[in-house]
Amino acid sequence: MNPLLDFSGLPRFDAITPEHVAPAIGSLLAENRAVVQRLSSEEVAATWGDFVAPLTDAGERLSRAWGIVGHLHSVKDLPPWRDAYNAMLPEVTSFYSDLGQNEALFAKFKALAASAEYQQLDTAQRRVIDNDVRDFRLSGADLPPSLKPRFKDIRERLAQLETKFSENLLDATNAYSEHVEDESWLAGIPADVVAAAAAAARAAGRSSGWTFSLRAPSYHPLLRYADKRELRQRMYRANAIRASELGPAELDNSPLMDEILALRFEEARMLGYANFAELSLVPKMAESPAAVAAFLREIAAKARPHAERDVAELRRFAAAELELGELESWDLAWVSEKLQQNRYAFSGEEVKQYFPEQKVVEGLFRVITRLYGVTLAPDQAPAWHPDVRFFRIMRGESLVGRFYLDLYAREEKRGGAWMDEAITRRKIAAGKGAGVQIPVAYLNCNFPGPVAGRPACFTHDEVITLFHECGHGLHHLLTQVDELSVSGIHGVEWDAVELPSQFMENFCWDWEVLSGMTAHADSGAPLPRELYDKMLAAKNFQSGLDTLRQIELGLFDLLLHSEPPQPGGVAEVLARVRNEVAVLQPPEWQRFPHSFSHIFAGGYAAGYYSYKWAEVLSADAYAAFEESAASAGSVLDRATGERFWREILAVGGARPALDSFRAFRGREPSVDALLRHSGMISA
Ligand code: ZN
Repeated sequence: MNPLLDFSGLPRFDAITPEHVAPAIGSLLAENRAVVQRLSSEEVAATWGDFVAPLTDAGERLSRAWGIVGHLHSVKDLPPWRDAYNAMLPEVTSFYSDLGQNEALFAKFKALAASAEYQQLDTAQRRVIDNDVRDFRLSGADLPPSLKPRFKDIRERLAQLETKFSENLLDATNAYSEHVEDESWLAGIPADVVAAAAAAARAAGRSSGWTFSLRAPSYHPLLRYADKRELRQRMYRANAIRASELGPAELDNSPLMDEILALRFEEARMLGYANFAELSLVPKMAESPAAVAAFLREIAAKARPHAERDVAELRRFAAAELELGELESWDLAWVSEKLQQNRYAFSGEEVKQYFPEQKVVEGLFRVITRLYGVTLAPDQAPAWHPDVRFFRIMRGESLVGRFYLDLYAREEKRGGAWMDEAITRRKIAAGKGAGVQIPVAYLNCNFPGPVAGRPACFTHDEVITLFHECGHGLHHLLTQVDELSVSGIHGVEWDAVELPSQFMENFCWDWEVLSGMTAHADSGAPLPRELYDKMLAAKNFQSGLDTLRQIELGLFDLLLHSEPPQPGGVAEVLARVRNEVAVLQPPEWQRFPHSFSHIFAGGYAAGYYSYKWAEVLSADAYAAFEESAASAGSVLDRATGERFWREILAVGGARPALDSFRAFRGREPSVDALLRHSGMISA
């Protein structure tokens, strides 16, 4: 039997090979087409039991199997898995595109929404139907027949272009390496990064020297710590021009970006919207592009004086202490690190030694236990790499959820950190597997692994990233919703989906929580209070500059998708946004958009603002824990945690995010907590 078709339990990573993909996905597509065909017939009544339930069941099998393939494509992005994924991608995309435009199904959903039965359904079920009716409209189901083939072509072409965009970026990242033979060029670079570079050089067959790459664990510390300016400049430039016309033509994302924008605009116009940004906001919490722009500009105005102060301070320090007359883009991280050390007398590297992997993971689990009353323990499951670990979450004696933890960076793994679902919670009414289906998640990071016998140690930023992804994981795993389509993160508005993840980040700044997950890698000593105080003092170091950078990305994305696409429009919009928002201008040859996967490949198109949007919500939610700490003595307050779980995590997408927020907080969201947390208004 094909292991991709085994839905009796966890994905069978010990048995699944690329050869299984085409037959398994092919047969699931055939099954789904047959089910859709049957349900489209007039004999099938538009009821929940006869219509929605069988459609959901068949769809779940396909999305589970295709989800496994997509996951393996992300963590083993080498020819066999890349080819297997790409071979089926057009057919899968085409199936979903057909499904989204199936008039018979659309008519049944509309009939169900207008039926007497609808009034008898529970709120989760009604929301499933409402979302489906909306999504059918957005998928082109209301389009006149003459326009449908073109609409379908656009969708398929976009899926290919977006995949190619990220493949080009990964290939361009891997194509570059900087080999250093002169040891003096290593000055300032942390020992573990140097050790990894030496190992990389040996792995590439060189008997001497050090090889640095553009992958995060090599690139970021190099830009931050390398004293050799020429080395920083070379690496910065290589990174900044990735996948652009300034590199190899076959990896140039420029034509892909132009075509993606043109097709998105055409798609939006076909559906009756003025532009893609309007279309993008329909299923989101934010009202309109104008409202989002006003939101971003409001925060930009508050951040600007702080950002200007940050830059003036960097320039002064660079000139006075580092003899740098001109502050270039490749100097920013390095000068910032030096200024931070000068002012707060600690380095990120020093802090990192206090965060060995095991203590961090234990600390994270303790937070989850104290907040939500669940316990976490190691479990066993086949995985895709020996470094992957597997855990279960229990409430008393009952299993709540399970997750894979894949922490380390690998060459064949896509960059960044992300949570993905393997299995989603739902209630199965009858037959085989009746009862509650236990959810399973993938948590993926790109942290440095153990080097030369030392345990992996994480920077504070990496600890925050881990908490962030775990927040997504908990949203998926702790849901109580019985309907698949609105369970966990399913059906949650795009711009509210980062609320639980960014919420979790806040705990990485609480002394009790933080100190409890530290033990120096050499001495075993916990984080000294003095060092923590410095970290806290440094927390909002350059927060004005960081905020403006985020606003710049959000506004660029929003305006790019709000206007009719023009040749050369990407560069023009970016220049305009930078003139409005940025206080520092990068070099003319910088090609940031060419690696902006979030909006060109990651589904954040006209949605990048949602990070800030959700930050407002998450900061305000965390403020409830700060308020309860005043009486409970700890932010890890079980009662407030219970309320957060009940009103936000447990309900998932079963009700509008704004309603959930109001239910938790007892009022409308306010930006005050975010501004206070980032030092832009006093406590
Ligand atoms: Zn996130």
